[in-house]
Amino acid sequence: MASYIETLRVRSKERIQVIDITEDVEAIVRRSGISEGICLVHLPHATAALVANENERGLINDIIRKIREEFVREGWEHDRIDDNAYAHLASSFIGPSRAFPVSSGRILRGTWQSILLIELDGPRERNVVVTVVG
Ligand code: ZN
Repeated sequence: MASYIETLRVRSKERIQVIDITEDVEAIVRRSGISEGICLVHLPHATAALVANENERGLINDIIRKIREEFVREGWEHDRIDDNAYAHLASSFIGPSRAFPVSSGRILRGTWQSILLIELDGPRERNVVVTVVG
């Protein structure tokens, strides 16, 4: 079994922002040289999330709106410490990682499944740990 690991650095500009990292992840899979296996994309952060969905402006705005609606800013206990409870909650419920099958050296993803990092407490520099195993 072979494995390959690489960390991407991504800089967010907004408090809540969706960033398409599909091309960077696909480049890592190519560099791995692994043709059949699994690609795990993981954010080692408690206030960011990762999803696979369509990179369409309206949907991106809808995702951000839904996060703002579900995870309101005020009224959480953690805010007594550092005022970003909503970001921890959104990360907890959406999740910090996704795994994708790799076949013939490519990530198997739907046409409308871009790999999207969701910044929840930016602006910040984020690490994205991409592990390919095959
Ligand atoms: Zn916090």
